[in-house]
Amino acid sequence: MTNNVNEFDSIDVVNSDRNHVWHHLTQHKAFEKSDPMVIVNGKGLRVWDAKGNEYLDAVSGAVWTVNVGYGRTEIADAVRDQLVKMNYFAQTAGNVPAAQFAQKLIEKMPGMSRVYYSNSGSEANEKAFKIVRQIAHKKYGGKKTKILYRDRDYHGTTIGTLSATGQFERKNQYGPFVPDFVEVPHCCEYRAQDEADKENYGIWAADQIEKVILAEGPETVGAICLEPITAGGGVIEAPAGYWPRVQEICKKYDVLIHIDEVVCGLGRTGQWFGYQHYNIQPDIVTMAKGVASGYAAISCTVTTEAVFDAFKEDEDPRMGYFRDISTFGGCTAGPAAALVNMQIIEDENLLDNVNTQGAYLISQLNRLKEKHDIIGDVRGKGLFAGFEMVKDRTTKEPVDESVVMAVAGHCMANGVIIGRTNRSFKEFNNTICLAPALIITKEEIDIVVNAIDEALLAVTSSL
Ligand code: PLP
Repeated sequence: MTNNVNEFDSIDVVNSDRNHVWHHLTQHKAFEKSDPMVIVNGKGLRVWDAKGNEYLDAVSGAVWTVNVGYGRTEIADAVRDQLVKMNYFAQTAGNVPAAQFAQKLIEKMPGMSRVYYSNSGSEANEKAFKIVRQIAHKKYGGKKTKILYRDRDYHGTTIGTLSATGQFERKNQYGPFVPDFVEVPHCCEYRAQDEADKENYGIWAADQIEKVILAEGPETVGAICLEPITAGGGVIEAPAGYWPRVQEICKKYDVLIHIDEVVCGLGRTGQWFGYQHYNIQPDIVTMAKGVASGYAAISCTVTTEAVFDAFKEDEDPRMGYFRDISTFGGCTAGPAAALVNMQIIEDENLLDNVNTQGAYLISQLNRLKEKHDIIGDVRGKGLFAGFEMVKDRTTKEPVDESVVMAVAGHCMANGVIIGRTNRSFKEFNNTICLAPALIITKEEIDIVVNAIDEALLAVTSSL
């Protein structure tokens, strides 16, 4: 595979990018002085930029998306064939790939029943919030409108989903937010709250949810929205005991469980969905990134039949349905890509690969922890891993963000793209994140881990 730089003038493209593209999550004052990276080609886990530089991408398109890897011609062919046949019709009617993908998806999600299509993780979560709100009005006289979310979780970029987000850096300066979204404490054991019961942290953290429900009034709380493993907030898996207790509490107070699988969905953690590790029966599940691995925009809000049923009737006949539409939820490219994406995961036994290579990746990160005092905690599940960097293992004081950037920059200069998570401007901007395509090999993991090892050596020796 080589870079097709001949198709365009790479200097022109880089200049057009520098002068006219407003990049996402980018501080342009610093960016403008740098040399913009314009990605041109991809194959497997590798991408090439406009200058012909090759990188091994250990975060699947920077934000944990390209689960089956780059350059999948079988997905591109299926999307092309579908677009030529029928590109679009609003989801007020059916289309063939949407029906077929819904069937296949539900087969992977026992207990779930209905698939609502839209285009992004944020949109899928907005639909979920609207479902909860409408049920509150239909069934509970407008009372159960409150939606709980967790500190450090992220649920999207719209004002509604930011209202349900526990990350200062994403939220600050975008308020005022939507009322009736209420935060509950995080469940990061390494950063357990001072007052926490450290012996039974999972139960303690779940019990904080009950405290919030009781303080708010159970008759006002309609749902809780949770990431199965907190992604951008620091790769946080809930400690033992947490999930069964959460389920128990939600049942007790008639609170719907909405699991946000936008990152973990479609195999990333070694099960089809992250929640499936924890024996949870959700009422609503949302997913986006890995659904079509970025080959087309698609997201899904999946519900139980009971949730769906609640929309069939209303005292006011005009209200007896989910009064929501997503124009581009009717694009056929998304489900056409998702069908082949799912087939690839099955045909290539990628869930097995995630479990095998994921265990190897985490063991290698733990090996680095033994070598580098700057690593305070290694976390993750399947091919979703991260480690916190600290100034001192005893105090757990996070390193400055510049150190994390230096480690990521060193890896990039050596041809490996790694990610970093965020929480706020000052604290906890200290986690390196890895989420490679599910096809990664042991040899490729070694390349990633060696690059991190070298970066840590270089950066710590200059501190
Ligand atoms: N939910 C989670 C857990 C996410 O990590 C993200 C994006 O990173 C979203 C929702 C929002 O998805 P999107 O950027 O597709 O709107």
